[in-house]
Amino acid sequence: MAAVSVPIRSSRPGIGSKWQTRLYGKKKTKKKTKKRPEEHGMNEKATMPPSQQQVRSERAPLLQRVPVEEGQRVHYPNQTVRKFCTIALTTIPLLTLAIVFFCIAIAGQSDLFGDHQTENSPFSGDVSSSSASASEYKLPHAAWPASDGISYDELKQILHDTPSPERAREWSQYYTAGPHLTGKNRSQAEWTAQKWEEFGLKSSIVSYDVYLNYPVDHRLALLKDGEVEFEASLEEDVLDEDPTSGLEDRVPTFHGYSASGNVTAPYVYCNYGTYEDYEGLQKAGVELKGKIALIKYGGIFRGLKLKRASELGMVGGVIYSDPGDDGEITEENGYKTYPDGPARNPSSVQRGSVEYLSVAPGDPTTIGYPSLPGAPRQSTDGKIPDIPSIPISYAEALPLLKALNGHGPNASSFPSSWHTGGLAYKEVHYNIGPTPDSITLNLMNEQEYVTTPLWNVIGIVNGSIPDEVIVIGNHRDAWIAGGAGDPNSGSAALMEVIRSFGVALDAGWKPLRTIVFASWDGEEYGLLGSTEWVEEYLPWLSEATVAYINVDVGARGPNFQTSAAPVLNKLIEATTAEIQSPNQTTPNQTVRDLWSGRISTMGSGSDFTAFQDFAGISCIDVGFGAGPKDPVYHYHSNYDSFHWMETYGDPGWLYHVTIAKIIAILAAKLVEAPVIGFSAGEYAQGLEKYLDSIKTKAQTLTDPGAGEGVSNDTFQPLEKAITAFQTTASSFDNQAAQLTALLHSPKSPQRPAARTDLYNSAREINTKYKLLERQFLYAPGLDSRTWFKHVVFAPGLWTGYAGATFPGIVEGLEEGNRTAVGKWVDIIGGRVEGARGLLRG
Ligand SMILES: [Zn+2]
Repeated sequence: MAAVSVPIRSSRPGIGSKWQTRLYGKKKTKKKTKKRPEEHGMNEKATMPPSQQQVRSERAPLLQRVPVEEGQRVHYPNQTVRKFCTIALTTIPLLTLAIVFFCIAIAGQSDLFGDHQTENSPFSGDVSSSSASASEYKLPHAAWPASDGISYDELKQILHDTPSPERAREWSQYYTAGPHLTGKNRSQAEWTAQKWEEFGLKSSIVSYDVYLNYPVDHRLALLKDGEVEFEASLEEDVLDEDPTSGLEDRVPTFHGYSASGNVTAPYVYCNYGTYEDYEGLQKAGVELKGKIALIKYGGIFRGLKLKRASELGMVGGVIYSDPGDDGEITEENGYKTYPDGPARNPSSVQRGSVEYLSVAPGDPTTIGYPSLPGAPRQSTDGKIPDIPSIPISYAEALPLLKALNGHGPNASSFPSSWHTGGLAYKEVHYNIGPTPDSITLNLMNEQEYVTTPLWNVIGIVNGSIPDEVIVIGNHRDAWIAGGAGDPNSGSAALMEVIRSFGVALDAGWKPLRTIVFASWDGEEYGLLGSTEWVEEYLPWLSEATVAYINVDVGARGPNFQTSAAPVLNKLIEATTAEIQSPNQTTPNQTVRDLWSGRISTMGSGSDFTAFQDFAGISCIDVGFGAGPKDPVYHYHSNYDSFHWMETYGDPGWLYHVTIAKIIAILAAKLVEAPVIGFSAGEYAQGLEKYLDSIKTKAQTLTDPGAGEGVSNDTFQPLEKAITAFQTTASSFDNQAAQLTALLHSPKSPQRPAARTDLYNSAREINTKYKLLERQFLYAPGLDSRTWFKHVVFAPGLWTGYAGATFPGIVEGLEEGNRTAVGKWVDIIGGRVEGARGLLRG
């Protein structure tokens, strides 16, 4: 384990001058012009002020202990004492836990400490007194296991009562008032840091120099015999009702990390552009080489649609939003389009990144280490597309789709996933093409690639235990001037969470554990801000972090949605059961009452990725989404605006308030519980479930060599490891539950020595819960994408957003590679054994 302290930036390993020179020599980036921000017409300052440079060289993120009663804390006057304490803290809990539970077993919980306590009051007699002075100082604070400063109930009451719809609306209005694209939002970063300071947080701006693109020019034209049939505007309509849509400095439609290029070629309709879709096209004998792909949004991460197209020799991609994926709320079904109604505005365009997110997120030139000034830069080959692409609206896709009518096979002759097109009522037949050579598209995309600063805001509330940390984050950057849903419904909620904790701090609350808040920049391009930060602070995060809570789109409808590492399942169930839903058609119904209870596995597509998949930190992502009958959300479009949110998304701002309460209460549970409310048993059950689904998959996939499926025997070693882990996990959870019950019992011992023993027991359990997720990391990473270190969860290689479980095995199976399957069964089995060893040790 690495040291507790956060590494100083200048002492990071791996940025030595030798390595730097070597890699710089090899550097191959496509069009890299280093421009300062003001050259792009921004008001941002190019260089950081001295105060911020100072922050960079400090032990950011500014870990300090909250001053609690003097003389009751562990002090580390020198290294020897520090070492001694470390050894003591790691060995004593083992013994004391054994003693405590041995006593419980022989004496029965009810009497054990009751009698003891009466006979040996901490304040009567010399022995008790001296024992108190010798051991009490090991408690995190004098009130432990109760909360410090104010009671836990008072804390939760504050977190329930403080968030307000008026304030959420105010924050949303601020964040959505103008463009805040990655690297162009410094004023918002400074404002955010200043607000957090006002709420009582120590806050600083942490900057990275990232490689990315800004749009210069684009063109899309449909040509017939060389003549222009249709020239796309590539613009979204300006709507009188929605002021954001008409802002002078609104962001053009483009793809993050798209390749510059100018191609003219026939084109092919490629459905969602999934791996299977392209396979279907190949099987049907549709010629793809040299053609442009016309692809629908949906299903998988957009970059992967282009990745496969490029691999198959296609020369460009046009991606559009088909209303067939909008559920019931469509113009075809009689709904008016935005702004007159809830259906999709026909001119809306989904911008977005086309980085190959499932290969590696973050700055594509610094995979695995932070993008600090002077960091060596890698080639972007294989990490971002090499063919140009453009996003368009369905209004502008119509002429292209109609020009395909009568050319090539029809989508109806393909599998059912090809039958979801929603423009038949506009005379689109969904023919595949390709178009004849006389009908072509001219696709021109010009991007300027730069290395430019971005700005994370990091705020800290120091707890009494410095190496048990909860991180809570949301990204601030948006593709559009608005971003009322993505991400600023989350940003508004985060402000309310922090304001609520600020009220608690004012009331005297001193948190048990440390809370770090993050407002990330650069999420939209590829999780840049969070990934670079995790890469920089990895040793400290590995040592100290208990959990990461992410909120991206906090509210865009009434349906609670979450994905989480299994250890957090029970906490999210308990939290949602404590919070009333804004929907009170049945009085007093809670979020839990209305939620399906579905907890998705961690995939990618938001800032938890580096925490979960690279650092092995248990993560949870929360937000309110929309169902098939709710107003259509204009994702990454100018119409994800304040006006849309107030009219359709969350008119009373109550879902903003509710997601703030969910995050705050979840955080409070994680921060204040004397024994962290994780469940190892849920993890064990999850592993069994994932293995079952793998077995099913294995039977359907055939080995090209042997011509038969991979048999269940292959998985037996892993199955055995999981079964053993289940037993250990459930007995470990029982120990934790017993200790929790004892701590909350009125008969919980009050003698300082006994309380110290209990604290040491809690500390040992908490450390194991904290480190459990880390056991599932495999340092060399996945075979085809070594940045991903987690053996249980990764984004699907060909889906990007959706989580794949046991990715190493799945990829082995998909390649028909028995050796790889066997290798990963062993590796994962070893990691499960490691997790079991941790809990038993
Ligand atoms: Zn987002």
